[in-house]
Amino acid sequence: MAAMEPAQRCPACRARLGTAAVCSRCGSDFSIARRAERQARALAGIAVQQLVLGQTEQAAATADAACALAHSPLAQALSQMLRQRSSQPQRVTGSGLEI
Ligand SMILES: [Zn+2]
Repeated sequence: MAAMEPAQRCPACRARLGTAAVCSRCGSDFSIARRAERQARALAGIAVQQLVLGQTEQAAATADAACALAHSPLAQALSQMLRQRSSQPQRVTGSGLEI
């Protein structure tokens, strides 16, 4: 899965922004947005850890929090997957619980 891409262009003047927090052309400051993106990535990582530990409800809540904070493809994928999982009926098979 690709890492979350920072904004490539300044939303104000369309100058190339790259990973800079301040636009070199118009001076718009995106440091708060950058911080939110970093926090969303960190939350997505925590959600993955929670999922690995079997804490699916916490993982879903953490992924949702990451999605609310900033666009995070990983968190969005986790949130959708966990939402689909929780809406599907669970079947018990001979080898154990099948999800
Ligand atoms: Zn700009």
